[in-house]
Amino acid sequence: MFIEPQIGHSKNEKRGWIEVVCGSMFSGKTEELIRRLNRALIAKQKVEIFKPAIDTRYHAENVVSHNENSIRSTPVQFANDILLLAANSDVVGIDEAQFFDEELVKVSRNLANAGKRVIVAGLDMDFSGNPFGPMPELMAVAEFITKVHAICAQCGGLASFSYRTTASTKKVVLGEKDQYEPRCRQCFNKGNRK
Ligand SMILES: [Zn+2]
Repeated sequence: MFIEPQIGHSKNEKRGWIEVVCGSMFSGKTEELIRRLNRALIAKQKVEIFKPAIDTRYHAENVVSHNENSIRSTPVQFANDILLLAANSDVVGIDEAQFFDEELVKVSRNLANAGKRVIVAGLDMDFSGNPFGPMPELMAVAEFITKVHAICAQCGGLASFSYRTTASTKKVVLGEKDQYEPRCRQCFNKGNRK
C-alpha cells in the first residue's frame, strides 16, 4: 500500500512531486489512481483528472476502471492542454498516460515544480514488452513509483506483461478483456514463440 508523503503544510508551503502508478493490464492501476484521488477529494483538495482523448472505451468524461469505480475526468488531445486546465488544482491525476505524447514529461515536471501533486497512471510496457510512450521517462523523473501486478492467466504467477491474444500488430489497440490477458514473463515469452 502506498502511503502518501507528508505535505509541507507547516508554513502553508506548497510542495509538488510526481507519483507514477504503472503495471500491466488488469493490474489495478486505475483503481489505485482513483483510491489516491478520492482521499485527496475527501480532504477537500482541488483535484483534476485527465486522460488522452484517444481512450473512448467507456464514458467520454469518466476515468473508469474495470470495476466501474469511477471519477469524472477531462479528455485532452495533447499533454500540453493539461498545463492550462490544471492551473487551479492541488492534485492532478493523469490516466492512460502511455497514450500521451512525450510532452507529458515536461508537463508533469512543470506542474510538480508549481507545487502540485501529480499522479500518473499508465501501462509501463506495450504488448511487445517494450517501454510504452512517455512512461519510462516519467518513471525517471518521479519521486515515487508504484508498480502493481496482475495474476498470470496461464499459470497463476505474478504477471507484469500484457499479452495480446489477437493477431493485430498495431501498437495501440484499446484494451478490452478479450484482446489481452495478463501473463508472467515465462508465459508471455512462451506465447510469443508460437
Ligand atoms: Zn505464467
